[in-house]
Order: sequence, then C-alpha cells, then structure tokens
Amino acid sequence: MISIKEAENIIRQNLPVRQIKNLGMDQLPGRILAKNIIAVEPSPRYSNSAMDGYAVRWSDIKTASADKPVSLSLTGESQAGVPFRGVLQPGQAARISTGAMICEGADAVVPQEETEVQDAVVQIKSAKKQHQHIRFEGEEFKSGAPLLTAGNKLGPAEIALLASQGITMVPVFHPAKVSVIVTGSELVAYDRLPKPWEIRDSNSPMLQTAISMAAGEVSHVARVGDDYDATMNALQQGMAESNIVIFSGGVSVGPHDLVKQVSADCGFETLFWRVRQRPGKPLFFARKDGTLLFGLPGNPVSAFMCFQYYINPVIRYLSGESFERPSTKAQLAVPIHNKISRAQLFRVTVDRESKPANPQVYPLEKQGSHMLTSLSDARGFILLDVEADLAAGEMVDVYPLY
Ligand code: AMP
Ligand code: MG
Repeated sequence: MISIKEAENIIRQNLPVRQIKNLGMDQLPGRILAKNIIAVEPSPRYSNSAMDGYAVRWSDIKTASADKPVSLSLTGESQAGVPFRGVLQPGQAARISTGAMICEGADAVVPQEETEVQDAVVQIKSAKKQHQHIRFEGEEFKSGAPLLTAGNKLGPAEIALLASQGITMVPVFHPAKVSVIVTGSELVAYDRLPKPWEIRDSNSPMLQTAISMAAGEVSHVARVGDDYDATMNALQQGMAESNIVIFSGGVSVGPHDLVKQVSADCGFETLFWRVRQRPGKPLFFARKDGTLLFGLPGNPVSAFMCFQYYINPVIRYLSGESFERPSTKAQLAVPIHNKISRAQLFRVTVDRESKPANPQVYPLEKQGSHMLTSLSDARGFILLDVEADLAAGEMVDVYPLY
C-alpha cells in the first residue's frame, strides 16, 4: 500500500498533455486562454466624442467664457452611427453625441451644459483646453498591443474585449472529457423504485456534478452490473470518448470486484492500487497511452473524497488551471488525534461567524464512508497524517469540498 503523497506523485507523473482548441464565443465562459491575444484593431476604433455637445474648432472658441461667449453657426450633426460628412469650417459647430465620430476639422467638444442654442447659432460659454472631451483613436491601445495573456480565465470582461476586437475563434485549453461508469448489481437509477435488496445509484449524479463543477466535460455515463463483459464493453466505449475514465465500485477484493481485471485485460497498465488512507483505501489508478483510469471505491463518501482529492486537480489541470489544490488556513477549535494507521481526509465544518478574523474548524462527528451527510454537512476537509496529534488552537489547511 502506498501513501497519499506517493499516489499524488504517480498521478502527477502521468498527467496527459493539455489539448488546445479554438472555440467560438458561446463556448468560452470560464475557459482558460491557451495563447496570448494581441489587438487587431486600435481602441477606440475612431476618434469620438466623450460628451453630448458640440464639435468645434479650438482656435474659434479658446477665449470663450460665460461673460464673453463665442457664437458659432450650427452646420450639422454627428450622431452615434451617422457621422457628419463635411469638414468643419472656421466659425462652425456641429451637434455631436457621445460615441459619435469627431468631424473632420474639429479638435474639441463643448458639452451641451456649457452652451446655449438659438435657431442655428450656438453660444459657447466655456473653453478649457484643445482636444477637450475627445477620445482619440488608439488612446487605449494600438493594433498589435498585448491584450490577454495565456492562462487568463475568460470572464465577462475578457469576452467583451475579444468581442470588441471581432476575435470570434479563441484558443483555449480543451476541458477534460470524462466518462463515468458505475458498477454494482445492487444499483438502480435514482428515479426507479429499488427492491428491498437494491439501492439507488447516487454516485453517477454525484460524479457528474463534481466533473462539471471542476470544469470538465462528462462525455459518457454508464451503469453496469458486476459482470465482466458489461464492464469491458463500458470501458471500451468510455475509452473511445474520453481522456479520463472513472469507475465507481468494483475495486475491492471481493469475487465480484472486476474493474482491475477488466482494466488489465483492456491493456491498461496498473500504476497503483490501494492507498494508506481513509476513506478510499482501495483507490485504483491505471493508464493506457493518453487515457487515465481511476477506480473509485463504491461507498459514496470514499468515491467523492477520492474524486475531489485526486481527480479534480487533474481535470482542472487539463482545462488550463494549476494542478495545486486551493486551501485556506483556519484554526482547530478542538484537538484531533488520528487513531488509525492510515492518513485521513477528515471532513470538518468551519465556523466563520463566532470569530470572523479567525475561523474555527470543528471535525464532523460522523465520518462513516457510507454516510453522505458527512459530505453535505461538511464545509471542507483536512489532511490528517498517520499519527497526527493536533492541539486545539493549531492552524490547519482546510481544503474546500468543491
Ligand atoms: P463496492 O466498492 O463496489 O464494494 O461498493 C461499496 C458499497 O458502496 C456498496 O455496498 C454500495 O452500498 C455502495 N455503492 C456502490 N456503488 C454505489 C453507487 N453508484 N451509488 C451509491 N452507493 C453505491
Ligand atoms: Mg460493488
């Protein structure tokens, strides 16, 4: 049996190569950019007005004040989307709206509030400086300027920037395609009534949710009984459609635990089986070329904790994120002593209210690997080393559950 650290290292050494794919706008949210993006157009695209007001020639108005207004003749309008076609001559002004193109000849904008209009005459009552209230073409950035960097996560702002540049296909890391195969002759779909000796399959909805929340793509889901041929068929189909195949159940030592055998017969190389941990001792890991296979124990808590600890970082890595799992420091409210000879992924709650500056960590009383409430009641987990003997007040790393 290997340690948690050894298992992590083996997984790290077998990470598949990240794939890059050009995706269209509607598939970008939350994805991670795989290449740097440079500007193909300047921003603003054309010099335009920052205010609703009048486009003028600075030399005409530079002496204007409330006491000595300057009168100009109103000669036309530049509207957002409908530019003024002529050239502004000395003594002339053109009405202009925010965002409208600056007319040729104009080199300042006077806001509406600093003018008075009667018939076709505009009185300018204030002048601050040449180029006032003009947003110049390229003043934010020029063509060729760096806009976004590989590794950036694409949120609303990044997507708006890409859209403003007309960049429609964007290179991002392709999310991991993940298959879920749950095994067990005792399982029925969650929307079916189980016979007294059957149980509902809660692992496939759980794992599908966990994959989606890790930004992976669920590519194939199957449920099979403890049957060699059915398990083999499901694996072959899963392999064809994914980078990662996750089995639930069937990795222990019972006569009906077939996943290890099927995996080997399908050409997968076993990289480890069994980790000195609770929950999830029978965790199984194998690889065939670029496809990883994880065999999770069937107990829901074991399955989830193994997913979260070992598989979630792989899925996040393939989608372009760091392999390191995030954690926060918090203080143990009570002592915890690890009484078993395996490390534990120990579920805890975190009280952030009583001492907001110093969140307090409490272990969950019920840690049974068949008890789903030990997940739904938990806020995170801590890694309890073999022989850990932690005192109240110690700071620990708390990993979020998802
Ligand atoms: P196994 O690892 O196949 O020995 O399964 C261990 C236990 O986990 C079984 O006795 C079931 O009670 C439970 N289990 C297995 N698969 C599932 C599943 N898909 N959903 C819920 N519970 C399961
Ligand atoms: Mg089973």
